[in-house]
Amino acid sequence: MPENQRHGHFIAGETVQPSSGEYFDSLNPATGEVLYQAARGNAEDVARAVHAARRAFEDTRWRGLSQTRRGRLLRALGDVIAEHADELAHIETYDNGKLLREMRGQMAALPEYLYYYAGLADKIQGDVIPASDRRLLNYTLREPLGVVGAITPWNSPLTLTTSKLAPALCAGNTIVIKPSEYTSASVLRLAELAIEAGLPPGVVNVVTGFGAEAGQALVDHPDLTKISFTGSTQTGARIASAAASRFIGSTLELGGKSPNIVFADADLHNASMGVVAGIFAAAGQTCIAGSRVFVQKGVYDELLERVTARARSIRIGDPLADATELGPLAFAAQRDKVAGYVDLGREEGATVLVGGRATDAGLGGYFYEPTVLTDVTNDMRVVREEIFGPVAAVMPFDDEDDVVRLANDTDFGLAAGVWTSNLARAHRMAARLDAGTVWVNTYRAMSPMSPRQGFKNSGAGVEHGTETIRDYTRLKSVWINT
Ligand code: NAD
Repeated sequence: MPENQRHGHFIAGETVQPSSGEYFDSLNPATGEVLYQAARGNAEDVARAVHAARRAFEDTRWRGLSQTRRGRLLRALGDVIAEHADELAHIETYDNGKLLREMRGQMAALPEYLYYYAGLADKIQGDVIPASDRRLLNYTLREPLGVVGAITPWNSPLTLTTSKLAPALCAGNTIVIKPSEYTSASVLRLAELAIEAGLPPGVVNVVTGFGAEAGQALVDHPDLTKISFTGSTQTGARIASAAASRFIGSTLELGGKSPNIVFADADLHNASMGVVAGIFAAAGQTCIAGSRVFVQKGVYDELLERVTARARSIRIGDPLADATELGPLAFAAQRDKVAGYVDLGREEGATVLVGGRATDAGLGGYFYEPTVLTDVTNDMRVVREEIFGPVAAVMPFDDEDDVVRLANDTDFGLAAGVWTSNLARAHRMAARLDAGTVWVNTYRAMSPMSPRQGFKNSGAGVEHGTETIRDYTRLKSVWINT
């Protein structure tokens, strides 16, 4: 990846310099070195992007397209992404420190999001409604909303952005994206690829910059017809109330503190691998991280032994290297936040069984050791708050009732894992857990076909699957006197 490059915004099919002339540094978290500079967007830049998106929405080159042709364009974008998958994987690894191995897998899967919604584009339709008076014909039209604003975090920039872009465009909207200030590069490249795929200029726009400046300006723009946000619960609450005050819809994918539950009848090898992957993949920087591990008392010691042995053997280092198993946190403040939580855990009385130290891995970057905390209880802040790092809190439980009570005693409700060989128990637990996604004998499975929704403080609205189309369309009822 070329270093010290300057990136502008991407508006109406062109790279546009920031109106303020200001840029900010984006760092490589594995080394702490400056990678590139991104444009510091402000309200003027956002207004320009929303205007371009509005014009593109009205333009016959987009609005006049048949739904079938719109689907073909999405498919073409999927094909172009597939051609550039390796390039995109490298950009994100440099930008947020995720393992190149993992990014290659994510980028290989990314076109599927476009293909899935390409297939749905010509299946969006209204209904004919039986009217009480036979002289009246009543039917519905499912229409696009207009300009959608998408605000995304740094942990999986392209996958999370595409989860919004694909259904938004499928339904005929245009989009303005504000990526995280820590990871602007891959989303800018995606917008360029949309032009290469044949999407009209202005359909996909990107304004980079800070949340309180560019993000807030996007949320406040009066021409926005919907906001789709993925990020922290705190920011999500502000965005939801701003959207509600203007009566526009918001889809919110927020934080988590997910339970990963191991019953004594589970295959302990698979369960321990699932626990390790659930919390240490992407250095714990996933919304669905299984950060609360509940283990049934009969197998507590054995499971803990397996998990700690594996945690000790995890190879920390350069995310570009094939042998590396744990990369850096995405930026210094995130590393410090994780370190602060582990210190807090110690003060609260937790035992740090493994890990518990920051390191630069000899590279100068922002790494933190895989960490296992025991002697923790549900009232401690390390158990209640999202750490977003490689820190697991492990707790014993007695039986199903006990663990359902403990697992559901949280403000979040994003995901949950259950490890058991008892089929009836698997179904019972799936029904009783207060989480939008429940995995049994697996963890982290995801697909554009499968709807996901955060319960409680983990979100509102559905992403992926067919249902999300409702959130990107509006319904019009037409009455005709025949
Ligand atoms: P964040 O809330 O700090 O930032 C997310 C985005 O919002 C960034 O682009 C940021 O610039 C922007 N933003 C910040 N303040 C804003 C404001 N006042 N107005 C408008 N935009 C603003 O979150 P983060 O630290 O980037 O991401 C980590 C969080 O994201 C974690 O809580 C994680 O659980 C969550 N997340 C959730 C999912 C999910 O699908 N539920 C997926 C990934 C990450």
